[in-house]
Amino acid sequence: MKSFYCYSFGCRVNQAEKEVIDGEMQNSGFSLKEQSPNISIINTCAVTHKAEREAKQLIFKLKRENPNGQVVITGCSATYWKKNNLLKNLPVDLVVDNINKEFLVKLIQNRLSGQASSNLGGQNKIGMDKYLNSGRALIKIQDGCQRFCSYCIVPYLRGTPKSAKIKDIVSQINKYPDLQEAILTAINTEAFGFDTGEKLITLIDQTIEVTKIPRISFGSIHPWSINEEFLNYYKKILPLKRLVNFFHVPIQSGSNKILNLMKRGYTREEIMEKLRSIERLNKYALIATDVIVGFLDETDKDFQDTYDFLEKSPISKFHIFRFSNRNNTSAHYMARNLKEPSNGIKMKRAKILAKLGKEKYEKFLKKNVGRTSTVLFLNNKFDGYQEALLDNQLQIYIKVIKPIQLTQLYEAKILEYKKGKLFGRII
Ligand code: SF4
Repeated sequence: MKSFYCYSFGCRVNQAEKEVIDGEMQNSGFSLKEQSPNISIINTCAVTHKAEREAKQLIFKLKRENPNGQVVITGCSATYWKKNNLLKNLPVDLVVDNINKEFLVKLIQNRLSGQASSNLGGQNKIGMDKYLNSGRALIKIQDGCQRFCSYCIVPYLRGTPKSAKIKDIVSQINKYPDLQEAILTAINTEAFGFDTGEKLITLIDQTIEVTKIPRISFGSIHPWSINEEFLNYYKKILPLKRLVNFFHVPIQSGSNKILNLMKRGYTREEIMEKLRSIERLNKYALIATDVIVGFLDETDKDFQDTYDFLEKSPISKFHIFRFSNRNNTSAHYMARNLKEPSNGIKMKRAKILAKLGKEKYEKFLKKNVGRTSTVLFLNNKFDGYQEALLDNQLQIYIKVIKPIQLTQLYEAKILEYKKGKLFGRII
């Protein structure tokens, strides 16, 4: 039996796709093997130079350590390299661009049986069918993006928005009666249903109505999706405790000048109001964000605006990225007239935000002490404690006396904060 291993870089959508690839490869008779498999698949990301560099390093490492194994690349960097003839020096055996990703397993089989790989055409299928080991599943509900934020290469590589149909998503969830959490992932939640005429709120509503899944969460929920209708809906369903109180809202900057240059289409005031509305509805909702430092023309004052915004906002978790100037994006052309901060400045700014992020996250953890929440146990242990997730996706560590089920929710009391972690007990 031929073996394979699949790696994934970047966003949750890529991770969801990796889960689908893992499942399809195994269903097609390949066995999963991390060390020296016959086929290594890399689902690449192109959002930053760092992600691209790491994928290249992995390709060389895999070929060095396992010269007889084949390396197959797919995803956004692979698509970008193929489009721009940048594959010459890369020791890869097969490149499957995003358009053909749904045929990846078939293309690998063709390759192994000696048939030429051909462009099979067609639209990207929305893949969604994989169990994570903890009773949670990543479900890809949407792909592609129409926003064209000035720094972002994703719309060029993933194409226009394509969504799964709500009835298919809920029936997929219903196939797994033990599933405890459906993590709905999208490149841009705002674009969910653009092509099908369906709405994100209807998706949540139908998932609540038609399935019994205890937890529904989003990988990210994009700023444009949080509008009055969404907030009213969140308020209405809060007592049901089915939607996980975790909002990863990528805002990218807190400076109006930079937001405008990024073509994000909102101001710091507008997004602050939306985030505060979430906080007003539920002070234990965990709000996280992505932020880019060192964008074109970002001065000390602009950076300070972002810092002040983040400090005052109810955001408690930051993912910090240093701006990468990607070929073919609008920012690439804007860079002819706008100065890009040096790497040293970007690193300094990233460090300052990381410190603020750490403080805010600790503060939020401490705020949770004393309350009760449902917990979903994960298959990880730490120093005699079992790891679990609270109703807002925070990790908690619980000493388990009786055997627990990974496919069941429990009620827990959050007892204390110690060295960056929360501890609790089942009640
Ligand atoms: S919303 Fe903006 S940052 Fe996100 S994928 Fe679309 S273009 Fe890229």
